[in-house]
Amino acid sequence: PYVVELREVTRTYGGVRALRGVDLLVEQGELVAVAGPSGSGKSTMLHLIGTLDRPTTGTVRIAGHDVPGLSDRELSALRARHLGFVFQQFHLAPGVAALDNVADGLLYTGVPPRARREKAAAALERVGLGHRLGHRPHQLSGGEQQRVAVARAVAGDPPLLLADEPTGNLDSEAGTEVLAVLRDLHASGTTILVITHDAEIAAWCPRQVRVRDGRIAGDDGPGTGRRAP
Ligand code: ADP
Ligand code: ADP
Repeated sequence: PYVVELREVTRTYGGVRALRGVDLLVEQGELVAVAGPSGSGKSTMLHLIGTLDRPTTGTVRIAGHDVPGLSDRELSALRARHLGFVFQQFHLAPGVAALDNVADGLLYTGVPPRARREKAAAALERVGLGHRLGHRPHQLSGGEQQRVAVARAVAGDPPLLLADEPTGNLDSEAGTEVLAVLRDLHASGTTILVITHDAEIAAWCPRQVRVRDGRIAGDDGPGTGRRAP
């Protein structure tokens, strides 16, 4: 079973054909870049894969669930249990300790409160911030804040991590720090999809899917399952 399965997907907004027949298969454990210039359809793909939107036509299956067949409520549950999101902006709660920022990310996953804090501490450990549990966002560097955001996204061990321009708000040193964390997560089996317009970051991923004008213009895959260096 594929973690991501898009078949002949189209998405139109009024007269705008944002996606014009997209096929994408991602297997468990892959680290995939979806890369392309502004306006190519990346955000539309992210919204569909993140189950925040439904296709106009075609098949979207995420972790085996057929997205168009689910209610909004069922999609919220699917997102909470199966997906982790990281964005360009860190989206951390200000004034809230790293541990609680991460634990609060588990509120809707069915994990009981005590286990939430244990899982949060373990996730912060995984991103190299085991010594920063009590730090609030303003006490952390940009790279550290984004690593807290990554910890929150993976604390519930979702089958898929979606990272939308995860280094877009960081200088190159902090960006490298965050990419190293993604590489470690990938090495330990997390399936990761990185959306980026940055060719260098795309090239860093073992599999690159290139999007142009609402279509897939190039793909090393599908399902090549190649590993990061
Ligand atoms: P990217 O993320 O690669 O910049 P998008 O998926 O945001 O690309 O956009 C693809 C195309 O669809 C663009 O032409 C964009 O203007 C259009 N588009 C995206 N979202 C909407 C929307 N909600 N309404 C109308 N047009 C949209
Ligand atoms: P972000 O910066 O968070 O990735 P955007 O600023 O690209 O988001 O888009 C914000 C919202 O506007 C999204 O829901 C997107 O689908 C929509 N959108 C993007 N392009 C257009 C467009 N050309 N016309 C109308 N809505 C759009």
